[in-house]
Amino acid sequence: MSESALYVVATPIGNLDDMTPRAIRTLESVALIAAEDTRHSGRLLSHFNIKTQMIAVHDHNERQQQQKIIAILEKGESVALISDAGTPLISDPGFVLVREVRAAGHRVVPVPGCCAMVAALSAAGIPSDRFAFEGFPPAKSQQRLNYYSALAGETRTLMFYESPHRIEDSLSAVVDAFGADRPIVLARELTKTFETYLSGTAAEVLLQVQSDPNQRKGEFVMMVQGAPAKDDSALDQQASDTLDILLEELSVKQASALAAKITGIKKKVLYQAALERK
Ligand code: SAM
Repeated sequence: MSESALYVVATPIGNLDDMTPRAIRTLESVALIAAEDTRHSGRLLSHFNIKTQMIAVHDHNERQQQQKIIAILEKGESVALISDAGTPLISDPGFVLVREVRAAGHRVVPVPGCCAMVAALSAAGIPSDRFAFEGFPPAKSQQRLNYYSALAGETRTLMFYESPHRIEDSLSAVVDAFGADRPIVLARELTKTFETYLSGTAAEVLLQVQSDPNQRKGEFVMMVQGAPAKDDSALDQQASDTLDILLEELSVKQASALAAKITGIKKKVLYQAALERK
């Protein structure tokens, strides 16, 4: 390794064969490995016979440990950052460390590899051209429902991480917020023995998870297909009904202006539709 750097190293999300040769070489050659949980990562390192010293860097001590890490970089040596699984910083600690190491003028180099979100999307058969990764939804049920409801109009594919003890309630909230017919895909235990993809409407996937306890075990990536893009030239049923009701009491101009405020559809489109109804 020529120049000193902080290497951000992705590790497997289940199958150890997904560890890249470059990740192994990097972890072997740095002066120190900053790990989210040293006991957990100890098993990975011993599997690959990597003897490099580790320190714990997690959400609660990131700021203190960054001084130690920057001091090592200042001596011209390198450090690697790993998390328990997958890519550090993706729903994992490391953001503050990376930002501060960069701010201190040192190189930060990604060593890419597994990421559950990317793996899930790559094989889900759900639109992948535009997507939004939301990480873990809130744990409390009312907050989660509000949070999903606020996302119901999003047209990009939405991606969430979810834990086994919340998956059933979370899917129920998806049905309530996005509608029973919204297409979703649930990826479970990626790269592991019980890897499963469940797909269908939100209500269908919820039913499968409710009726089979095995489908509630393990690690999950939940993908919700985006809402259909609003076509300004044609009114959907709700906008059409809104306009009809307003036209019973108001002029074309007033009704279309008010309907635009309620539906978010352009006033010009609603005005034209209102004229056609008169
Ligand atoms: N940094 C990781 C990454 O790059 O994907 C994610 C860390 S986050 C703390 C852990 C969550 O990722 C799990 O609760 C689950 O939602 C998802 N996850 C991790 N491994 C997975 C797997 N093998 N199959 C499905 N989801 C997984």
